[in-house]
Amino acid sequence: MSTLTNALPVTAASSHCCFCSMQCGIELVPGEKGAGLTVKPSQHFPVATGRLCQKGLNALDHVLHEERVLAPLARSGGGWRQAGWSEAIGGIAAEIQRIQAQYGRDAVSVYGGGSLTNEVCYLLGKFTRVALRSKYIDYNGRYCMSSAAAAASRAFGLDRGMTFPLSDIPLASYIILAGTNIAECQPTMVPYLLEAKKNGAIIVTIDPRNTMTSKLADIHVRLQPGFDSVFVNGLLHVIVQEGLYDRKFTEERTHGFAQLAEAVKPYTPSYVEELTGVLEAVTRTIARGFAKAQRGIVMTARGLEQQSNGVENTLNYINLALLTGNVGSGVRLRRRHRAGEWARRPGARPESGPAAGVSID
Ligand code: SF4
Repeated sequence: MSTLTNALPVTAASSHCCFCSMQCGIELVPGEKGAGLTVKPSQHFPVATGRLCQKGLNALDHVLHEERVLAPLARSGGGWRQAGWSEAIGGIAAEIQRIQAQYGRDAVSVYGGGSLTNEVCYLLGKFTRVALRSKYIDYNGRYCMSSAAAAASRAFGLDRGMTFPLSDIPLASYIILAGTNIAECQPTMVPYLLEAKKNGAIIVTIDPRNTMTSKLADIHVRLQPGFDSVFVNGLLHVIVQEGLYDRKFTEERTHGFAQLAEAVKPYTPSYVEELTGVLEAVTRTIARGFAKAQRGIVMTARGLEQQSNGVENTLNYINLALLTGNVGSGVRLRRRHRAGEWARRPGARPESGPAAGVSID
């Protein structure tokens, strides 16, 4: 647990950990005899009441680390030298002006990221469009979570992270965790899974590796990277062929069922076994278990999204939830980083203006 002892004001404050999508509540409390600030878990934040993982507990180390750069540095003779703020800002501005005068306004691009606050992301969008008048701005989510965003937009017409609150997890009877290592990446979510297990839920993990999360699973599928779509198509095949899908939901709330049924026809469990090595019986067991479960949840993350066919992988899992009528309480495309999610909305991506959801040409 880190304690803030540098020159920053020693004032108690409530905040959030910014390192993953759980965004656990943090209390910064003064240490004994007014000595610095200490990070404590918030007892009032409903998502992770009283819990912080190692990353959150040590969040202040980012602020305190001795190698943290607190003033501008300039390249000098193969190394670095301290530069004043006016030298740095003046030098950067002059270079931007020179490049734009010679090559045009779009010759300068801006790349933001999830480490910035919402306010800075907003200002960055304004700065790029209004001051630089460049059309090139983007942020780290272009690689990180873009596949999930594109898949959600195509399936639901909306780019949002999840379709249910975490408090639904203990109520689920079948949970598929695909390409996601919750126990190490979002540790404070684990108690929700443990509660679901206590209530009788079956947990399936799909990951090439054995992980802390797969230790919680009833079935662990060690799928080779690149075969996620093949495997999910096998699940969809079984559900369609055995008539296990939710007819009412599919007819009333979805479109394209006939095309989907046709597309997954070749993916018999034996063909899936041939391609992936996953035993035919395993594909059948998971497909039947999920389709027959009263409440099923699918959670996907970067493991299957950060592939060349990440959108397709994610869409296939969304189809699994749609086909079984589990949307609304069943599909979660988990985000990683608080500001990664929100960097996009205040304007740090090319297709959004400096306000959530506003498109610009
Ligand atoms: S679970 Fe995520 S938000 Fe919570 S303390 Fe750990 S890294 Fe931070």
